[in-house]
Amino acid sequence: MNVANKLATTIFNVDREAHIIVKNEICVKCEVKPCLTACPAENFTLDDASNALIFSYEGCLECGTCKMVCSLHAVEWSYPKQGNGVLYRFG
Ligand code: SF4
Repeated sequence: MNVANKLATTIFNVDREAHIIVKNEICVKCEVKPCLTACPAENFTLDDASNALIFSYEGCLECGTCKMVCSLHAVEWSYPKQGNGVLYRFG
């Protein structure tokens, strides 16, 4: 089974409250925006008109990459509250 097929088996118990906060007032100043390509779940997209990031936490794989790659510290990261978040199967 390849990675894509394994990820297709994951389940998300989505909390109403986001566990990751992205500070767009900082992101608009970032020229590189590494989160756009680093997030394995592709949870970051760019609104070309405003240069603002659009972020959705619902499909988060809880890898922490977005926090690690953001040199401007625009990502406030925590795990989802107990009982919420990703549930991996087969690995
Ligand atoms: Fe994407 Fe990982 Fe950040 Fe979740 S923790 S938004 S999967 S980079």
